Amino acid sequence: MNSSTSAELAELRALALRTIDGATRDLIAAAKTAYSTPETGFNEHKTAAFVQERLQSLGFVVETGIARTGMKAVLRGANPGPTVAVIAELDALRVPTHPDADPDTGATHACGHHAQIGSMLGVATALSQPEFKDALSGNIAFIITPAEEFIEIQERLTLKESGELEFLSGKQEMIRLGTFDDVDMAMMVHTSAGNGDAGLSIGGTSNAHVSHQVRYLGRSAHAGGAPDQGVNALQAAMFANSAINAQRETFRESDVVRVHGIISNGGSSVNAVPGEVLYEGRVRAKSVEAIEPIAERVIRCYRAGALAMGGSVEVQSVAGYHALRQDLTMQRLFAANAELILGRDSISVLPSDQTHGGSTDMGDLSTIMPVIHPYANSASGVGHGHDYLIEDYDRAVVAPAKVMAATVLELLSNDAQLARETLVKHKPSLTAKKYVAVQRARFTTELYESK
Ligand SMILES: [Zn+2]
Ligand SMILES: [Zn+2]
Repeated sequence: MNSSTSAELAELRALALRTIDGATRDLIAAAKTAYSTPETGFNEHKTAAFVQERLQSLGFVVETGIARTGMKAVLRGANPGPTVAVIAELDALRVPTHPDADPDTGATHACGHHAQIGSMLGVATALSQPEFKDALSGNIAFIITPAEEFIEIQERLTLKESGELEFLSGKQEMIRLGTFDDVDMAMMVHTSAGNGDAGLSIGGTSNAHVSHQVRYLGRSAHAGGAPDQGVNALQAAMFANSAINAQRETFRESDVVRVHGIISNGGSSVNAVPGEVLYEGRVRAKSVEAIEPIAERVIRCYRAGALAMGGSVEVQSVAGYHALRQDLTMQRLFAANAELILGRDSISVLPSDQTHGGSTDMGDLSTIMPVIHPYANSASGVGHGHDYLIEDYDRAVVAPAKVMAATVLELLSNDAQLARETLVKHKPSLTAKKYVAVQRARFTTELYESK
């Protein structure tokens, strides 16, 4: 049994950092390659093939096609111990007005996930060197996840109907498929814009959410010749939207409620009364439990639209994300490594209840195991906006690679004492099996007919 001393750990850490420094240009180039092929969730075929090839060139056996485009490659230490996952997200989102958007699909990396490919490869490049094997008690799982952006719901529901998916995000589906069954804890670093001067931040939480596919059915008729014969589904949806807006004064600030939606089908012909309309709604709040009463009110508003116009409405609730809970032991370790490697002011630690209102499926993973989800403050513009650009690739790719590599090394060296300590202290809120049951129960459909 090899158990590393702190002198050995420092030597190995220095080797990992030197390796990442030496690979800087290559890692940034990998992130930029991912940037140049933006693909939305569950369709990241080119990006996945590129990442697979890069992992294989490092000597990894890569399991592919998990939840369509997801992958997993495991680096085994010489000694038994826990498994730490290092995660990278594959997907882009659609912002057609972004200057780098794919002209055909409108897809672009306006959330910076491409940088995660670079930082994950940095950790894999450094720690897959033979010098590390004996020091590691446990394994490192590199998990490449599809579809973090919870979009294109209708398309994903079609995949669900055909049995290709059950849950609509990458990590949700990978939990269901058992990809995380042999994983004990997980980390990733996401990019961000404008979070102060520190290059990294950690801590805080995120919102849970639920998605609504709201289909209004009215009756189409000639908009000029026979409007009295029609039932206007678009007016029903707009009425519902107004009713939702009227609810806003009832939201408690402490619940961090966000309610928003789009009309993705507002009718077919301008000269016909719209007979069918699809409104896609989303309700976010600080927890799945906090969402429930708000979602109930929002659904009442959907019904109100149908009641007012005399049509019907089908509301399909789609299980969204859980709130992110970051593990404090891992968080402290990551922050200490950031300070050691990048300097005292390199990281800011946020209170665990601080939230930006958005959501991530790392929240779902955090219900079943300890995770951290730090941010690399490296972009300009607004997240998901037409102007979101990674400005500083050293901050976005290289710094996260170094801090993650050092953190994983510290967790798994010295007989994995720190990893074991993390697991002893952490009480997960759900088992994977219970998580799957909870998510299944959150899929519901109701039909409301006004007469
Ligand atoms: Zn995003
Ligand atoms: Zn993101």
